Amino acid sequence: MDVIVAGIGIAGAFALRSLSRSLEVLGIDKREKLGYPVKCGEIIPTKREMKRLLPNLEDYSLFDLPKRFESNRTDTISFFLPNGKSYEIDFEFHVVRRDEMIQTIAAESGHRIEREVILGYKNGTLITNRGMKNPKVLIACDGANSRIAKDLNLWSYEISSAKQYVMRNVECDEKTVYMFLGKAISPGAYAWIIPKGNGVANVGIGFRQKYSNESIHKVLDRFVKDFPYSSQFLKKAEIISKVGAIVPIDRPFERAVHGKVIFAGDSASMIISHTGGGIPISMIAGDLAGKVVNNFFDGGKLEEYDFLWKKYLGKRLSTAYLFRKLWDLFAERDELFIKAAKFLSNKDLEKILHCEVPWKIKLFYPFLRLFT
Ligand SMILES: Cc1cc2nc3c(=O)[nH]c(=O)nc-3n(C[C@H](O)[C@H](O)[C@H](O)COP(=O)(O)OP(=O)(O)OC[C@H]3O[C@@H](n4cnc5c(N)ncnc54)[C@H](O)[C@@H]3O)c2cc1C
Repeated sequence: MDVIVAGIGIAGAFALRSLSRSLEVLGIDKREKLGYPVKCGEIIPTKREMKRLLPNLEDYSLFDLPKRFESNRTDTISFFLPNGKSYEIDFEFHVVRRDEMIQTIAAESGHRIEREVILGYKNGTLITNRGMKNPKVLIACDGANSRIAKDLNLWSYEISSAKQYVMRNVECDEKTVYMFLGKAISPGAYAWIIPKGNGVANVGIGFRQKYSNESIHKVLDRFVKDFPYSSQFLKKAEIISKVGAIVPIDRPFERAVHGKVIFAGDSASMIISHTGGGIPISMIAGDLAGKVVNNFFDGGKLEEYDFLWKKYLGKRLSTAYLFRKLWDLFAERDELFIKAAKFLSNKDLEKILHCEVPWKIKLFYPFLRLFT
């Protein structure tokens, strides 16, 4: 076996897609249906936004997303403060059918895929419920709860919990993604309504227990039924399905190549940590891992991966982390945040969502560094 791709979510599917068919490759995942159930809001910034979000990327063709993966396209973010003040921000997203996207990309890669559970990684050997495997290269794409990262003693990143309902009969503007801040409905994170089209929406909350003495279920129910700025859209809404999940909210690994193991996506905490936007980052990381591994079999070095992902993603992921740490300062202080937000314009928020630092925040940089 030349390469094993361990975990076929977003990063794994894009790694399989870019791995050469001349290599002997095996993709493994514990799920019966790849990508299902969907534990995600399913928004991906369009190519236009990606150019601004990651200006150091050289090739944006990954973001020419085929129409068949899209269930909706939005052009605005409506951003609600805890007191109901809202900002309308121009920002385009594809709302994708994430499970179909993963299944199609993995299948079209032409590589072999097996249903197996990763049980551990010890002394260079991957252990699954179907035996021991010794690939020449292992691409670890096993997500935020990475067994492989744990066994290599790398799993120390901070995570947030999340819970999401898929709901029907949601009455909102289907061209708008709604984001809501406030301790009562999303302690230490934010909550969302993401229209998938035809009255169906992903409705969920990020949740950090250290900022709350309630359960995530109770807080999500409040968001759906009682919080005035969100429940106005959900009066007739019914739950179709429920999922719980975790998402990394930390800096990425210092190094993502460890011997013959390459980490891509959530497993390496590669994420825009202030928004929890991990799909585009995992697409890029998975794609890049596959390409570097192809070169490795032609005499290149795996370490090239660390150089490249840092070049393309490093600076913006650091900025995202700075925003996330800044947000932590306000996580328990809605009133203080509302006061501070008076200094922020629509343009400032647009910048923050694109991982750009507004000059007003730059002024506080030296002070902020003390907290990051
Ligand atoms: C509720 C929620 C909403 C989100 N919404 C958005 C959003 O709208 N937009 C966005 O950009 N990001 C969003 N994110 C983040 C985004 O979903 C992730 O960052 C991204 O999917 C990470 O991709 P990945 O391939 O690294 O991991 P995953 O997609 O999690 O894939 C990991 C794969 O590994 C497999 N696996 C794990 N453990 C094992 C094992 N032991 N054995 C075998 N297989 C295993 C899993 O089955 C899975 O298929 C959200 C996250 C959550 C939790």
